[in-house]
Amino acid sequence: MTSKRTDHAATLQQIRKTVGDAGWIDDADGMAPYLREWRGLFHGQAAVVVCPASTAEVSQVMSLCHQAGIAVVPQSGNTGLCGGAAPDRSGEQIILSLRRMNRIRDVDVANDTLTAEAGCVLAQVQQRARDSGRLFPLSLAAEGSCMMGGNLATNAGGINVLRYGNARALVLGLEVVLPDGRIWDGLRGLRKDNAGYDLKQLFIGAEGTLGVITAAVMRLFPLPRDVHTALVAVADPAAALALYRSVREAAGDDITGCELLSRRALDFVVRHVQGCRDPFSTPHPWYVLLELSSARSNSGLRETLEQALQSALQGGHASDAVVADSLAQGEALWLLRESVPEAQRREGASIKNDVSVPVSRVPAFLHAATARVEAACDGVRVCPFGHLGDGNIHFNLSRPTAVSDDAFLARWDELGGIVDEVVMEFDGSIAAEHGIGQLRRARLAASRSPLEIELMRSLKQALDPAGLMNPGKVVPD
Ligand SMILES: Cc1cc2nc3c(=O)[nH]c(=O)nc-3n(C[C@H](O)[C@H](O)[C@H](O)COP(=O)(O)OP(=O)(O)OC[C@H]3O[C@@H](n4cnc5c(N)ncnc54)[C@H](O)[C@@H]3O)c2cc1C
Repeated sequence: MTSKRTDHAATLQQIRKTVGDAGWIDDADGMAPYLREWRGLFHGQAAVVVCPASTAEVSQVMSLCHQAGIAVVPQSGNTGLCGGAAPDRSGEQIILSLRRMNRIRDVDVANDTLTAEAGCVLAQVQQRARDSGRLFPLSLAAEGSCMMGGNLATNAGGINVLRYGNARALVLGLEVVLPDGRIWDGLRGLRKDNAGYDLKQLFIGAEGTLGVITAAVMRLFPLPRDVHTALVAVADPAAALALYRSVREAAGDDITGCELLSRRALDFVVRHVQGCRDPFSTPHPWYVLLELSSARSNSGLRETLEQALQSALQGGHASDAVVADSLAQGEALWLLRESVPEAQRREGASIKNDVSVPVSRVPAFLHAATARVEAACDGVRVCPFGHLGDGNIHFNLSRPTAVSDDAFLARWDELGGIVDEVVMEFDGSIAAEHGIGQLRRARLAASRSPLEIELMRSLKQALDPAGLMNPGKVVPD
């Protein structure tokens, strides 16, 4: 009779043969970056990091792990913000990194689709689409590191959701290796397909708990040829919402971005990020970053934007505005927004709440949540920013200046729980775009009905009865 440990050792040797030396990392230094989450909030141990180079290799690895009862943690770019790609501390799980599966298999311009493997970096996919004269619109600050597999597994959002939807809306077909190693080839580039359940949607946003995404057929769009960006100073979130509504009325679907920044968020950026400066001569309490874009080169959007801003200034919805005169100026305005996470990191520990409420209720939510959190924590520096047009606010809390990082982070569940309560009062979601992972798993049960949790458990049981796919993530015990 052999022990479990001997079985595992034999299985690991078979896995090593499958992926070869190029796909095998078991030394401490080599494994270190895969074991630690971006901000260092989650840190685990693993038996080995395995990097298969093809779907067939992923399938063999999964089949071997299934037979031996070894748990697998899929990982792509490891930029996730809720510990979903980090292993536990047992040292028995294996990390399955998709980074070597980085081929773009096909670009079908006439069908407006691109087929990418899971380890393609998002920026690489965007560039390949551009090289073909098309747009792949998924865009987020981590795009130089995050990968398609992780983008789909988290149903990533980002700055273009308002116009193009989140990752889920951009997928036409999927290839997935199931927990037992079988390959589901659903790589169809169809815009209409009602033949039974839409299986791909199960795996998108499942954070690696139901299977390993190995490739996807993604939708492409016409490249924008006329792009206009403005930063608008406003008195409060109600004015920001009124501004968004009026620009949307004027520009329709040509409004591609509408981001909200608090004064504190801009202060952090100007203080910490080289090359960023406040474009206004006086401080304002809130800012809205607007982007209008069209595939038509002379779309008249500049005039539309200027007229809308003029009306907002006259009607009191805006206090001041700068409109970019060049692509470079537009990029400088976007840099202010995209630098907020990094700037906030440099201000010390922060408790992040990635929440959404109906767009119409964002101002009231911000008012209520700020009051509740400030009452619970003396000196807390509320630093909200995010995707106003999607109702998705990063309601982040920076530690009081006199409190240590550790002491503040020890209050994560308490202060996060207070924010969750307000979110629920506003019919919102406690996880808008970053997901659940380990970070919000315990809180998920409180935010969804028992029936929803039961359905989630049934799906998990149906697809992964042995519980080997990314255990301890998403679905509450
Ligand atoms: C600076 C910064 C800005 C960000 N901005 C945004 C933003 O605007 N919008 C947004 O939505 N997110 C944002 N994020 C979060 C993060 O970048 C996204 O969640 C991204 O989609 C994760 O991709 P990844 O390749 O890094 O995935 P990973 O971190 O490697 O994995 C994330 C999850 O997906 C699972 N997974 C990974 N690959 C696979 C696969 N092939 N099959 C099945 N499961 C898999 C993992 O197990 C894990 O649960 C930001 C992160 C940073 C650091």
